[in-house]
Formats: sequence, structure tokens, C-alpha cells
Amino acid sequence: MSHTRILVTGGAGFIGSHYVRTLLGPDGPDDVTVTVLDSFTYAANPANLDPVCDSPRYRLHAGDICDPAVVDGLMAEHDQVVHFAAESHVDRSLHSATEFVRTNVLGTQVLLDSALRHGVDRFVHISTDEVYGSVPEGSTSEEHPLHPNSPYAASKAASDLVALSYHRSHGLDVRVTRCSNNYGHHQFPEKIIPLFVTRLLTGAKVPLYGDGLNVRDWLHIDDHVRAVELVRTRGRAGEVYNIGGGTELDNRGLTELLLQACGAGWDSVEYVADRKGHDRRYSVDWTKAHVELGYKPQKDFTEGLAETVAWYRDHPEVWKEAARRAVLPGGRQ
Ligand code: NAD
Repeated sequence: MSHTRILVTGGAGFIGSHYVRTLLGPDGPDDVTVTVLDSFTYAANPANLDPVCDSPRYRLHAGDICDPAVVDGLMAEHDQVVHFAAESHVDRSLHSATEFVRTNVLGTQVLLDSALRHGVDRFVHISTDEVYGSVPEGSTSEEHPLHPNSPYAASKAASDLVALSYHRSHGLDVRVTRCSNNYGHHQFPEKIIPLFVTRLLTGAKVPLYGDGLNVRDWLHIDDHVRAVELVRTRGRAGEVYNIGGGTELDNRGLTELLLQACGAGWDSVEYVADRKGHDRRYSVDWTKAHVELGYKPQKDFTEGLAETVAWYRDHPEVWKEAARRAVLPGGRQ
């Protein structure tokens, strides 16, 4: 049987590893092989890939997406790319944007150049709803102008545009996804849900930004990974697909749920100065993914959150070490 050889960048991180475990798991397609390319930054966790490390259809390559020699060597042996690798934490980009521009913009361009050179037949670029900026009301379609506010969001918007330019200029089959806030197990404990859960489970206080009324749409990792597969297998070249989760919550409401789940009270919450340039609300319109690809989020948020909290409660050996690496000046969500 002929196999599709997929290069997955950032496959040791939260979403990338979930994608790889799903592709190579019992319900995944049996006609794909996967190579993970990851430079193992602080956000990577080798243990995320333990469940697939013995699969004959899996290979790991430690390397940097910004290194053309590394990328070129691998690209020659692959048919498709699913590109998750990025610096992904907004707070870190406010502290220093250098790595964000390097990895997210330059790294993406290095991959695209190499994909073009080697005639790769599909390049799925994973982006974010943050590229649209704050959305006071309604939801942004894929046609909405990009208005990124943080250096992180700006670097992702830049990489989206570079990726789409390789389709428009060179005809490379590029597909872009823009998803909302992911949650689930194996997430590095710096973003709000794993940060708050791991702190509450160890009796520490949690920092809530500003008035706590910033709104996010929550997308379970299983739904996101299913959507990425739909885009890879059924999407169209040159198109952007928004991926939403269907549960809008402000941070105060989310905090209340997390306090309940961890058996803590509001005395565990410390209101702290707001994040610079903090977008008030994100909301993507995912009608296009629904109509064209049949995408619909399936995970009930209450159930997904309870499972996530239970996973952190049951796996301190995975996140305790990671939490030590989550050191960030004022690092929060
Ligand atoms: P993550 O921070 O958990 O993982 C990123 C991975 O990329 C890590 O394994 C890291 O080692 C790797 N990496 C970083 N720089 C690299 C480089 N130069 N070369 C090779 N590998 C490198 O991120 P995540 O939460 O899994 O996010 C994955 C993608 O999804 C990112 O592109 C992010 O922008 C996007 N996204 C994430 C969310 C979310 O809620 N987590 C929401 C929207 C979009």
C-alpha cells in the first residue's frame, strides 16, 4: 500500500502531539507515516509522544524549522506538511518578540520555500483567531481584515500572509486554519486553563487579568484535531478555514468553573494588572468549515473541562517538571 508521508512540525507541543497521537492511534488512517520535526523548546514535552514512539509509522527528528539544511533534508522525503511549530504564548511575546518573528515568520517561510522546491503536494498552516484582533460583537469570517494586536498575533498574521502568498504566487497547495483557544490534556501549564488548574491543585493562588471579563471561545483539542484532518483531507488549496469550539466564556466565568472543579474558592484568586494590549473578545464564524467540510465541535465543554482537570490531577509527573520550565516574568495566560 502506498503511504502519505506527513511532516508534522511542532509535534512535541500540545496540539501537534495530539494530532500525531490521533493520526497514529487506533482510529487514525492507516495509510500515513509521520515524521515530527521539533526543536524541543521549553514548551515541548517528549513524553507527549510516548504513546506513538514504538509505531513503525513514526519518526522523530530534533531540529529547527528555521534551519534550511534540516528542513530541506526532511522535505525531500515527504508528501505533505502540517505546520504547528510556533512560539505560542502571548505573554512571552510581550516580554521579547524576537523568537516569535524568527520561528513564526522566518521558520514558516523556510518550510514553504523547501515545500515548493520539493514539490510537496499539500501544506496545512495552523494559525489562530488572534490574527483578527478584538471582536466587540458578532463573529469574524475568513474574509475579515487582519488586525493583530500582540507581537504573537502579528507574527502569526505575517506567517498566514506569507503562506497564502506561496499559493497565489507559486501555486503551492497551502491551506490555513484559524482556530480559537484550545483546551485539553497535555497542555503546557502557562496558558490559563492548565496554569490555573495546576496552581489550584497545589494550593497556590491564580492571577486573573484586569476585570476578568475578556471573552474567549473554547475549543476542545479533539475537535481541533478532527478539524485539521478535515482540512488536510477535504479542504481546498489557497483557502482559510476558521475553527471554533462553540463555548464563549469570560475569564471570570471560566475561573469560577475551575475553582469549583479544583475545590477552591475566590480567595485563591488574585486580580492582577491587565495584560498589555489585551484583546477583549475573540469569536470566529466557522460556517465555512461546517458547510464545506462537515466540521462541528462535538465535545461538551463541561465534560471536556472535567476530563482535563482530572488528567492534571492524575498526571502530576507529566506537568510538575513542565511547570518548573514555565518561568516567565509575570507569566500568566
Ligand atoms: P506549543 O507551544 O504547545 O508547542 C509548540 C511546539 O513547537 C513545541 O513543541 C516547540 O518545541 C515547537 N517549536 C517551537 N519553535 C520551533 C522551531 N523553531 N523549530 C521546530 N519546532 C519548534 O503550541 P500549541 O499550543 O501546541 O500550538 C500549536 C499551533 O497552534 C501554533 O502554531 C499556535 O500558534 C496555534 N494555536 C494554538 C492555540 C492554543 O490555544 N494553544 C490557539 C490557536 C492557534
